Amino acid sequence: MPSRRSFLQTIAAATLPLPVLSNLSYCNTQVHEGEPVLRVAIMGLGGYGNMVARAMKDCKLAKLTGVISGTPSKIKTWQQEYNIPDKNCYNYENFDAIKNNPDIDAVYVITPNALHHDQVIRVANAGKHVICEKPMAINAKEGQEMVDACRKANVKLLVGYRMHFEAKTLEVIRMRNAGEFGKILFFQGLCGFEIGDPKQWRLNKELSGGGSLMDIGIYAINGSRYMVGEDPVWVTAEETKTNHEKFKEGVDETIQFQFGFPGGAVASCLSTYAMNNLDKFFLNGTNGFAEMQPSTNYGPIQGRTHKGELTQPHITHQTVQMEEMSRILLQGKKPIVPVDGEEAVKDLKLIDAIYLATQTGKKIPVSL
Ligand code: NAD
Repeated sequence: MPSRRSFLQTIAAATLPLPVLSNLSYCNTQVHEGEPVLRVAIMGLGGYGNMVARAMKDCKLAKLTGVISGTPSKIKTWQQEYNIPDKNCYNYENFDAIKNNPDIDAVYVITPNALHHDQVIRVANAGKHVICEKPMAINAKEGQEMVDACRKANVKLLVGYRMHFEAKTLEVIRMRNAGEFGKILFFQGLCGFEIGDPKQWRLNKELSGGGSLMDIGIYAINGSRYMVGEDPVWVTAEETKTNHEKFKEGVDETIQFQFGFPGGAVASCLSTYAMNNLDKFFLNGTNGFAEMQPSTNYGPIQGRTHKGELTQPHITHQTVQMEEMSRILLQGKKPIVPVDGEEAVKDLKLIDAIYLATQTGKKIPVSL
């Protein structure tokens, strides 16, 4: 079937332009209009893995070339859908052998949160770049170990922070950097949905590492940093539960948290598994505001500032993310907002501090 892929040619890296060549460690790669194509294996063929794979069909600079799954029937379906040869299919026992597979440049880990740590380290030790879903790990210590392992193995580690590539979000960041809101003094991030099946891994602390904060509250945590443009220096937090049956010990239902920033700004956020349609960012400075609702769902994101509506076009988030991650991994491009493992460790330090604050009732100083 003719597709965009048919425009891709396999050529020797020696014909690539010099800046590309200098960052490219592969002797044979595909290129599209002079840019190398990232060949990706997805680990974890669940809900979000499927969404990423579908979105990658529209990518020019990223291509799905492999899968890692514990379910042979899923592998078969994906092989047919994405034309993946047997030699690029792995399970959770044998995927270290990906080390010897020249068809795969990077592995995208899209499994339950608590599994990311070991899986990312194994991929790094196999010498492949890693993209890992959020939350990168279940605490800052594990996150730092992942960063260290990737550094030691000389591979890059990126995290699936898709909003860092979203056009309206980037416009608000541009306006803030240009001083259009004046001095930033307040951010509000509200993130939640009503979670269903009580048996799912998201409500099992062993696999999720926590509750709504890990899963959806992380958007407000990360968002407060890219919207305010600073890293918090203190955290306070309070937890409430309306359903103790569904939300067991260590699985948070609703947490309110507050951050203080070095420039004097404060953030007030809510993370919950008890309310639908909660997806709002609000940023206010001395001269203006930005308001986004929805602010982090799959879009289209909608928003306005004191200057009017945000009109940047919607493109499927995961398509843009994978195009840009290809440039970051293969060409050394610097994103406007970082998406690397160090960035994720900062969010994990804040998650640790929020949980500590809910347990102690104290204001927790943080240093990111
Ligand atoms: P999911 O339950 O739909 O899929 C998880 C996959 O992992 C399944 O295919 C499952 O078979 C596999 N798996 C492997 N080992 C497992 C084990 N021991 N127990 C349970 N499942 C196991 O979950 P999902 O929604 O695809 O979430 C996966 C990851 O992606 C999570 O870290 C989540 O936070 C993240 N995510 C990110 C976004 C985003 O917008 N960036 C959206 C959804 C999910």
